[in-house]
Amino acid sequence: MTLFRYFAEMCAKIENISGSLETTDVVATMLREVEEDELPVITNFIMGIVFPPWSTKLLGIGIRTLYTALAKSAGTSEKEIENIIRKTGDIGETAVEALKRDSSTQLTFDSYIEEKKELTILEVYDRLNQIANASGKNSQATKVKILQYLFNATSAVEARYLSRLVVEEMRIGVGEGIVRDAISKAFEVPVEIVERAFMLTNDLGTVAVAAKRGGAEEVAKLDIQLNRPIKMMLAQVTPSIKSAINDIGKVAVEWKFDGARVQIHKNGDKIRIFSRRLEDVTASLPDIVESVKKRVKAESAILDGEAVAVDENGRPRAFQEILKRFRRKYDVEKAIKSIPLTLNLFDILYLNGESLLDMSLRDRREKLIQCVDNDERIHVDIQKITDDEEEIQRIYEEALNAGHEGIMLKNPDAPYTPGKRGKNWLKKKPIMETLDLVVIGGEWGYGRRANLIGSYSLAAYEPKSGRFLPIGKVATGFTDEKLAELTEMFKDLIVMESGTQIEIRPEIVFEIAFEEIQKSSNYESGYALRFPRFVGVREDKSPEEAETLERISQIYKSQWK
Ligand code: AMP
Repeated sequence: MTLFRYFAEMCAKIENISGSLETTDVVATMLREVEEDELPVITNFIMGIVFPPWSTKLLGIGIRTLYTALAKSAGTSEKEIENIIRKTGDIGETAVEALKRDSSTQLTFDSYIEEKKELTILEVYDRLNQIANASGKNSQATKVKILQYLFNATSAVEARYLSRLVVEEMRIGVGEGIVRDAISKAFEVPVEIVERAFMLTNDLGTVAVAAKRGGAEEVAKLDIQLNRPIKMMLAQVTPSIKSAINDIGKVAVEWKFDGARVQIHKNGDKIRIFSRRLEDVTASLPDIVESVKKRVKAESAILDGEAVAVDENGRPRAFQEILKRFRRKYDVEKAIKSIPLTLNLFDILYLNGESLLDMSLRDRREKLIQCVDNDERIHVDIQKITDDEEEIQRIYEEALNAGHEGIMLKNPDAPYTPGKRGKNWLKKKPIMETLDLVVIGGEWGYGRRANLIGSYSLAAYEPKSGRFLPIGKVATGFTDEKLAELTEMFKDLIVMESGTQIEIRPEIVFEIAFEEIQKSSNYESGYALRFPRFVGVREDKSPEEAETLERISQIYKSQWK
């Protein structure tokens, strides 16, 4: 049994190193040392998550709940906790200070496994699981009680990382990239095999357990599973049709529909639909469920496509309309009438018990066509394989005239590579004039806008470390109504406040228009935006899907071509 204290001290060690190689080594050591049943838990904990990304379980501990629990454990007031956080600027430090823990005691690994009345990793997981399961009238009180119990049992170092874990913000620079490399290192499995298994299972804990049990051979056996969403294949921007033909040769050209991505799992009569963020959206889309039941002739299948909200003439409606459908929990039937959807299927990943991922797009499409009985609500749209630039240009214009975004240019001989943004899927849109960036902070306004968050700090994503690097602020493009709506939305995500400055948990992605990207030493990303303007909230995107630093640097360079 490994103690939670061991995990906390490993976090402290990682926090004190800056290089990613050294960090990977420490994580690898930790993964090697813990027992098999602890491995999935610690794999998630180290990235600051409690449940794997595909899980529908939510911990749901807001900053307020944490303040209440800390205040109760420390025998002080919530006001006092807020005072401490203002001073320390960090939730971990606040927990240590509030609980007045002595941080001088250090243990060796042997003593982590001694029989003691200390928290174990599994006990912390079990209690957090109870928190996630708490529902109903008294759930808030139950959550606070469990947290209070946990805090009462912690030492200084444990309090520091437990408090960060429960708000799912570890801030030690360990993201999926580092954990992937650490699994590879700890159990001597080639990193590509670990990566592929992760894309298929969406669960590094499962991958780590397979690696520990049987090395590369066992990891390679992990496969696509019905009802477990797999990461979607993504597209890269191509500057021109010509360059796409140069890259691929004969390309499979499809319309790039203006809607929202869906991954559909069919298992007999049971249908589940996942969004681009791999959230289960089945309950809001019963019309799509019905269409799939009626029109997909396969016992089991995983299909990939784009759901589009259409008007009475079949033209796509604004993107916000489709999001209304995805979010709708009540009055779904009414929404189906007011915002009808059509589903354009463009890929198939699994059919009747068999994975099709390694098959070429050409062959997958053949299977897709065979198993879908097209009607006006669900269909496999036209695809043309050609290297005739003029013809592709014509298709591009047709797609734009029909109100869609542009075209996709795909390599017909390529397999389906989950989670990859590679050269096998290219997209051509009119011009890239917006960036999707994560909100990490803000500032209260003044005068008329004193009760509103008037400006937002934005960040790009760095996948290796899982960090969000600041790139600028946006304070224009908002109406007062929008600001009020956003302030309400961000209220529960505030991690810290100091004067008018606010720190916000990185969860929401803004679409930002800008004039130019500049190099800048003012922001940690090394870049800044000229004339940033708010366009909208990208509710379909998770923070990890925001622009990466690498992408920002690509756009920066392409500005001068
Ligand atoms: P983007 O969101 O700009 O990165 O573009 C990729 C997205 O285009 C995918 O995630 C799909 O939601 C969407 N899309 C629309 N039509 C297609 C298509 N024919 N093939 C693949 N993706 C498509």
